[in-house]
Amino acid sequence: MQRVFNFSAGPSMLPLEVLEQAQKEFVCYGSSGMSVMEMSHRSQDFTDILEQAKADLKDLMHIPDNYEILFLQGGGSTQFAMIPLNLMNKNNTADYVVTGQWAKKAAEEAARYGKVNIVASSADTTFDRIPEIDMKNCNPDADYFYITLNNTIYGTRWTTLPETGNVPLVGDMSSSILSEEIDITKFGLLFAGAQKNLGPAGVTVVIVRKDLLGNAMDFTPTMLRYDIHAKNDSLYNTPPTYGIYFMGRVFAWVKAQGGVAAMQKRNEEKAAILYDFLDQSKLFRGTVVKKDRSLMNVPFVLPSEELNQEFIKQAKAAGLVNLKGHRTVGGMRASIYNAMPKEGVERLVALMADFEAKH
Ligand SMILES: *Cc1c(COP(=O)(O)O)cnc(C)c1O
Repeated sequence: MQRVFNFSAGPSMLPLEVLEQAQKEFVCYGSSGMSVMEMSHRSQDFTDILEQAKADLKDLMHIPDNYEILFLQGGGSTQFAMIPLNLMNKNNTADYVVTGQWAKKAAEEAARYGKVNIVASSADTTFDRIPEIDMKNCNPDADYFYITLNNTIYGTRWTTLPETGNVPLVGDMSSSILSEEIDITKFGLLFAGAQKNLGPAGVTVVIVRKDLLGNAMDFTPTMLRYDIHAKNDSLYNTPPTYGIYFMGRVFAWVKAQGGVAAMQKRNEEKAAILYDFLDQSKLFRGTVVKKDRSLMNVPFVLPSEELNQEFIKQAKAAGLVNLKGHRTVGGMRASIYNAMPKEGVERLVALMADFEAKH
């Protein structure tokens, strides 16, 4: 059975080299005589895996010492609750920018714990852009300011971060972590579920400034307190050990590719192949405002639903799978995360050109 080019939005393609290495280490890890899955999370072998993963991420993202790196469970969605529970602790209010379904869900969850102020939204144009922020709408007393850096479903991304002054910026980077350089010092907290750019589903990375810890709401469940996880070095309870191991291997792979700057360059090249084609095509059309285009998720449409269906069918037959767009946008979406080789994008564009010539 041959591997396909998997354009899924998540879980998504992983680097083949890492899959093969994990396969080699699957039954016996190093000299431990056992699989990582069978190891105590308090063993020396696992401690080394966890510490190395943390050190590599710190290195890759240039994370300063005044930040904690946590490896948690519950996916990106649990962060939608953990963030307000832990950070809405001074004035019980936060600013949110709604740029898609994930931002909307985050805002709705936060509204269960405090006052949510929607600073801006692009819902009225089906989230085809990052909306302009009018500083007049921002609350200088907000406990934090929340954005989704890359909007997986709609294919938009923030290219310039909002200036939030003393209000800590909180970012969901689930679908773009390690895909482009980011100034972590601009953030109070940044998080990402693993299953788009980092590894298998099950582990969530949280990077949080230490001074923001320790003031969770009284009724916050212990497992949802950042300070508890920080104090226990992500080992308060059994962490998702295999996910952490695998993610660590992905960190090492990104380092071997030349780090985040090199990944970004490669991602820009990959995305440009698709966007350049879309810009000159008379049949295919990108759905996003040019200046806000994502490097990771590229939605596009054909003039009719029949043509969309036909294209997705032909792509599948050619080994280019999971191109169906999100139901709220329709058409196609090509997710081209770090692990998608340039060849996958070239093959997709070649098929699009061929399809256009025949229609
Ligand atoms: C996938 C995704 C999520 C949700 O992640 P889960 O791990 O399924 O909870 C949240 N935010 C963004 C931007 C995503 O792409």
